[in-house]
Amino acid sequence: MAKYCAECSTELVGEAPQCRSCGAVRGDFVYKSRVAAAALAFFTGIFGVHRFYLGQWWGVFYLLFCWTYIPALVAFVEGIVILSTSQKAWNDKYNKGLSLGIEKGGVVIVVPLIFLTIFSIGMLAAIALPAYQDYTRRSQILESHQLAEQLKPLVEDYLQQHQEWPERYSQLAAGDIVIPEMVDSVEINTGAIIVWPASSIGVHGYMMYSPLRYGEGIKWRCTESTVEAKYLPGSCR
Ligand SMILES: [Zn+2]
Repeated sequence: MAKYCAECSTELVGEAPQCRSCGAVRGDFVYKSRVAAAALAFFTGIFGVHRFYLGQWWGVFYLLFCWTYIPALVAFVEGIVILSTSQKAWNDKYNKGLSLGIEKGGVVIVVPLIFLTIFSIGMLAAIALPAYQDYTRRSQILESHQLAEQLKPLVEDYLQQHQEWPERYSQLAAGDIVIPEMVDSVEINTGAIIVWPASSIGVHGYMMYSPLRYGEGIKWRCTESTVEAKYLPGSCR
């Protein structure tokens, strides 16, 4: 069945994408966008999507080997090559020698890809940021723990010298102890060391290290701390 140009009604011959009389692009012509192909190569090239878009079945190989990440590298280079190809050379190769540079269609693919990328970055941030924050808080809480570790032998010394537990921080020989930046305050209560981590950390509660006499020695436990367990050192959980 003969086809005719929608603009001038000249009969369309063969596979030519344009009317030979008025140059109008025929209605059934599927335009392959250079920008869209490059965008697909950059964002989804690991799965060979840009190859499928260009009607090339060997995109399957990208899909098969995507687990090696090598297709992503190949596609990235291909994306750059596609972008640096002139529109004329592109049309000769993929658009049956179309004489125009109609970039319509590209936006349809590029815009969703950009949104998809922004969405993915957002998702990653939503997962990574809280994990990073927890990590930071844990390391800041560690300063309280380390302070208590320094004070433990001082409490033990006091007990040996006075045969009773110290009641105040000032009773300890703590002249050399520097209170770390991430500690708000520290107190001693019947031998127990109570450290309040800095409120700026954003974690509530205190760290409590209680001494227990057993035989000749002393055992410490810090399981009565009220700081949320996930921020505590393993020995205090
Ligand atoms: Zn025509």
